[in-house]
Amino acid sequence: MSKRIAIVGAGPAGLMAAEVLSQFDYELHVYEQKPSAARKFLMAGKTGLNISHAEPVEQFVQRYDQAEWLSPWVKKWDAVWIQNWMKQLGIEPYIGSSGRVFPTEMKAAPLLRAWLKRLASHGIQFHYRHKVSQLHQQHLEFYDLKTKEHRTEKFDAIILACGAVSWSELGSDGAWQAWLNPDEIEPFQASNAGVEYPWSAFMQPVFGQPLKRVAAWVEQGEKTIGDIVISHYGLESGLIYKQGRGLREQLKQGQKMQLSLDLFPDQSVEQLAKKLQPGKKQSLSNVWRKAGLEGAKAALVRELVAKSLWQDSAELARQIKNLTIPLTGFRPIEEAISCAGGVKREVLSEQLQLKSNPRVFLCGEMLDWDAPTGGYLLTACFATGRAAAEGVHQFLRAH
Ligand SMILES: Cc1cc2nc3c(=O)[nH]c(=O)nc-3n(C[C@H](O)[C@H](O)[C@H](O)COP(=O)(O)OP(=O)(O)OC[C@H]3O[C@@H](n4cnc5c(N)ncnc54)[C@H](O)[C@@H]3O)c2cc1C
Repeated sequence: MSKRIAIVGAGPAGLMAAEVLSQFDYELHVYEQKPSAARKFLMAGKTGLNISHAEPVEQFVQRYDQAEWLSPWVKKWDAVWIQNWMKQLGIEPYIGSSGRVFPTEMKAAPLLRAWLKRLASHGIQFHYRHKVSQLHQQHLEFYDLKTKEHRTEKFDAIILACGAVSWSELGSDGAWQAWLNPDEIEPFQASNAGVEYPWSAFMQPVFGQPLKRVAAWVEQGEKTIGDIVISHYGLESGLIYKQGRGLREQLKQGQKMQLSLDLFPDQSVEQLAKKLQPGKKQSLSNVWRKAGLEGAKAALVRELVAKSLWQDSAELARQIKNLTIPLTGFRPIEEAISCAGGVKREVLSEQLQLKSNPRVFLCGEMLDWDAPTGGYLLTACFATGRAAAEGVHQFLRAH
């Protein structure tokens, strides 16, 4: 008789695990509490599904906070592998000028449709509206949201691919945390999320406007260059997400979150100071405008730099190239694109098997790794999904 495997969660990690195991003679069940699969994956496709990144793999793996842990899997199932996999599903990949990999059509839906069709043809049984409510050794308790019935089933192996805790209306509600020992989980924190600062009313006219080409860094950390959007709650953009790890580290150390900005990274202090020198007949705002200090950048300087320094071009230039913003926190985790934290590396084997319950394997965003946006999140979800499935296969061959 075929061994029975349950995969909890039909997101990218769970589906990838199902794909690997469907090559073998297992009775394979995927349980998903939502009425359809991969809702977060579809949401990710709304603004262009950035599925991976074409930079050299050694550089690629360094984007993860747990580079050494993820490296073997991400190298094995890298951006090239993902592009070939997409082609097999009839989806042409496209590499943008920044190296980001997308489906040519940008959307996730055609890829997901083709993928689910192929998985169903491999005999995988999908059970939608099935909420797993408890895990006991090799048993899962279900609540069938359609029939309102509870039942318990036994499996030879179980893969948990339940996601983290952001955007819970898409399914990743984090209820699974109650099935594990609290010591096994690093508390979740918002990642790839905006940051908050209580602007004065003077900033309102620039809400929604970008700070174009600025450098950002946290303490002695790496400087990254890009755009930042001023929002009513603080700051938002991919550049802010890149600095998220450093900002979380400050919180962890019990410090206040502080982000440093250089509003003119292509000019030296001296060059900028020269341009900012007050003219005899020119108004200050005219001098600033000619120096490129206008719009959102000028508003930010007026907000953060003491008025007494505005006429002191040398000091003003120094401040503009090293503007420190004392942030009050991240946006709520519910709004975050991803989450830092999750099931700890040390409670898992090299096969992503839970040491406290060897019939259980885990993958995807529920694990304690994190990366900025840029295709790194989905790549690691796919790779850990495949790794957990290979772990299950090895385990079941031996038992
Ligand atoms: C707005 C947005 C944009 C994004 N854009 C990108 C991008 O461009 N590139 C990128 O790399 N990443 C992106 N991401 C992140 C990416 O979508 C996630 O990292 C990825 O979906 C996580 O995959 P997962 O399979 O681990 O979990 P999820 O996709 O969250 O799937 C988990 C599944 O498990 C189900 N589940 C949970 N608990 C239970 C239970 N008890 N019983 C039954 N089912 C359960 C959930 O319903 C869900 O379907 C984006 C995320 C968001 C929110």
